[in-house]
Parts: sequence; C-alpha cells; structure tokens
Amino acid sequence: MDLNFTAEEQSFREEVRGFLRAKLPPEISRKVLGGKRLAKDDFVRWQKLLHAQGWGAAGWPAAFGGTGWNAVQQHIFDEECADAGAPMQLPFGLKMVAPVIMAFGNPAQQQRFLPRIIDGTDWWCQGYSEPGSGSDLASLKMRAVREGDQYVVNGQKTWTTLGQHADWIFCLVRTSTEGRQQEGISFLLIDMKTPGITVRPIIMLDGEHEINEVWFEEVKVPAENLIGEENKGWTYAKFLLGHERTGIAGVGRSKRELKKLKEIARKETSAGRPLIEDQRFRDRIAQVELELMALEITNLRVISSDSATEGEKKRAPGPEASILKVKGSEIQQMLTELKMQALGHYALPWLDEGLDADWSGDAAMPAYADHAPPLSGQYFNMRKTTIYGGSNEIQKNIISQMILGL
Ligand SMILES: Cc1cc2nc3c(=O)[nH]c(=O)nc-3n(C[C@H](O)[C@H](O)[C@H](O)COP(=O)(O)OP(=O)(O)OC[C@H]3O[C@@H](n4cnc5c(N)ncnc54)[C@H](O)[C@@H]3O)c2cc1C
Repeated sequence: MDLNFTAEEQSFREEVRGFLRAKLPPEISRKVLGGKRLAKDDFVRWQKLLHAQGWGAAGWPAAFGGTGWNAVQQHIFDEECADAGAPMQLPFGLKMVAPVIMAFGNPAQQQRFLPRIIDGTDWWCQGYSEPGSGSDLASLKMRAVREGDQYVVNGQKTWTTLGQHADWIFCLVRTSTEGRQQEGISFLLIDMKTPGITVRPIIMLDGEHEINEVWFEEVKVPAENLIGEENKGWTYAKFLLGHERTGIAGVGRSKRELKKLKEIARKETSAGRPLIEDQRFRDRIAQVELELMALEITNLRVISSDSATEGEKKRAPGPEASILKVKGSEIQQMLTELKMQALGHYALPWLDEGLDADWSGDAAMPAYADHAPPLSGQYFNMRKTTIYGGSNEIQKNIISQMILGL
C-alpha cells in the first residue's frame, strides 16, 4: 500500500494552505490555537468564508453544492484547516441532517434546507437523546400527534449541544406506540422559534455552557417538515449516527493537539532537561502518535467507502464507524491527559477569564499564562467524547456483534 501523497494531492494541499493563509481571519485562528473560547459568530463567519470559496461542504456531492472531493482531498482539507487553527465546521447541519435530507428528504425539503446549511444561514442542533433514552434511544417518548396538516409535539430532549444558538432542531419523535419501539419513531425538522419551545442551559464540568435541555409544549410543526415516511425514522436515525461517528474521529484536530503537546514538552523541563528528552514521557508521546497514525489510515479507508455514492444518495458508513469513534475519542482524551501532565501543577488552576481572547496573563503566575489556561478545562471537557455519539461501551458492543460476529 502506497502511503505517500501524489503530486496532485500535494498541489491540492498547497492550494488549501494558500487559501487558509489568505482568508482565515487571524483573530479567529489565534483563539483556536490558543484554546480560547469561540463565539457563535466565529463559526458562522468561517462557514461563510468557506462557502464563498465553494468549499462550504467538503463531504457533499457536487449536485448539492458540495466540493465533490474524494476521500484523500477531504482528509487533506481537514488536516490543513485544523493545523492552521480554523474553527471546526459544526457537524449538526453539514454532516448529520444534510446527508439525511439528501438521502430521504423530498426535493422541496432539499431545496429549502440544504442551501441554508451550506452558506451558514441556519444553525442546526440534534434532538435525539431524552432523559432515560440515551444508549437505549429507541425507548424515546417525545410525542408527535398528527392533527390535520401539522404535528403537535410534547416532551423533552436533553444534552442538546449548542442548542442555545440553533435556528432548527432535527428530532426523533414518537408517532406510534404500537408494535416494536423502533417502528413508532419519526424524523421531524422543527423551527426553534416555534412557540412552546424552551431551551435551558446545562453547565458542564469545565464550567462552560455547551449543552442544553430543550422542552416542547404543544409545539405545532407543519407536516411538510417530516422526513421520509411516518414511523420510519429509526432507519434515518441509524443512517445519521454512522455519519456522526465518522466525524467524531477528529484526526486533524488530534494532529494539531499532538503538535501542541510536543511544543509544550520541548519548553517544559524535567530534572533540568527538556521534558521531551525524558524517556518515559517520550514513550507516551510515541504511543499516542502511533495510535493516531493507525486511526488516520482507518479513517481514510472508511471515508473512501462512504464516498461511494448510490445515485445522488450517500451510502451510510457501516459499523466500522464505531472503531473510529472509540479510537478517536480515546486519543483525544489521552492528549489532554499528557498536556496536563507535561505542565504539572501549572495545569491545575481553572481561570475562567483565561479563555477570553484578550486575556494576557496573570502577573502573579507568569509561567501560567503561556500554555496552561485552557488545559484543565479541556481535560474535563474531553471526558464527554467517550459518552456522546453513542457511548464507547455501546460502540464496543456494535464492534463485537457486527464486525467480529461474536
Ligand atoms: C457533551 C455531550 C453532548 C451531547 N450532545 C448531544 C446532542 O447534541 N444531541 C443528542 O441527542 N444527544 C447528545 N448527547 C447525548 C449522548 O448521545 C448520550 O449521553 C449517550 O448516548 C449516552 O446516553 P446516556 O447519557 O443516557 O447514558 P446511559 O445510556 O444511561 O448510559 C450510562 C452508562 O451505561 C453504559 N451502558 C448503557 N447501556 C449499555 C449496554 N447495553 N452495554 C454496556 N454498557 C451500557 C453506558 O456506556 C454508560 O457508561 C450528548 C452527550 C454529552 C455528554
């Protein structure tokens, strides 16, 4: 297997680098590279800049305004964007609901929703989980009752990431209590401005507001917002989860964080010598680097088979997406642990204002200002990665049954 990039691929990489140098706003990349807090506007501004270049949706087919890039090009693009400090393109619209709308939505839905996702107009969030229905998602209870040409929705979603900014939420709702649980679920697109919706913050372990509870009380949703057929939502939900798990691998971002870890280990000292020369610490860096290289190759294999299209529709990634989810999340956690260890006690203080872009340090702790402010927050925040997108225990069940046939 030839793992080297071809001359065309190298020149594509140069093109992406040139674009990033010219168009990625430095005030945004400084925040990303420094681990600072990003505002909604940073994400939206970057999406609009990408869209203006024709690069708004790397993974979409050209027929829907995507780049039509192959798997290697998408990989190079992700890697370069992460390395340059571009904000992550949020997955909820681009990588979750859009493939579902392309595969199962009708032409009117495709024309209505897809252009507003790719140009950054609409911010989407994901309404799958409910209290008591996370791993056991098919037990979900949020009810949608058809009344004429609308559904009336009552219930609650939870852990809704960045729902506080969202214009739209895609929801799994219960439309029937007959038969198997999976057969009474539908996939509904709901405008977050509809009367009866309340968003309540959940503050995370790192002190940040990233997730929410979303309550629905007599919310009236036009029936034209139903995707596909009523009670067939479970099929669409599973299709989406494959895309979600592939995206979670985060290879480009982990490569950037590995670089940061090495930078810290070169500056910090242990017994008077750079930490990077400490044999035991070097071993741990090497171990995570090897895991990351293996993940990168696996990721390329999965996205290559995923980009095979069936007509205009994208094929759902198979159970191998679970491998990416498990390994990707473990690597992200390992990197935050090693960065904490590299800074020792300097990594421990948690300082809210240290995440503000204009914070220039604390005179009482000069050494703290350099790398330390985001580290404890990142460490706590990254605990989420083995829970969301389907917990790692559930992914291991999928791997054992669907891949290993146990
Ligand atoms: C930061 C964060 C953001 C999230 N964002 C969203 C979002 O935007 N939208 C959304 O819909 N959801 C979101 N989620 C929810 C996420 O998908 C669920 O938390 C996840 O599916 C686990 O469900 P649960 O929390 O109900 O835990 P439970 O299902 O109650 O699981 C509890 C524990 O039991 C284990 N367990 C459960 N069943 C089994 C089994 N059969 N075999 C082995 N072990 C098992 C689990 O692995 C876990 O360790 C988010 C979660 C987090 C933490």
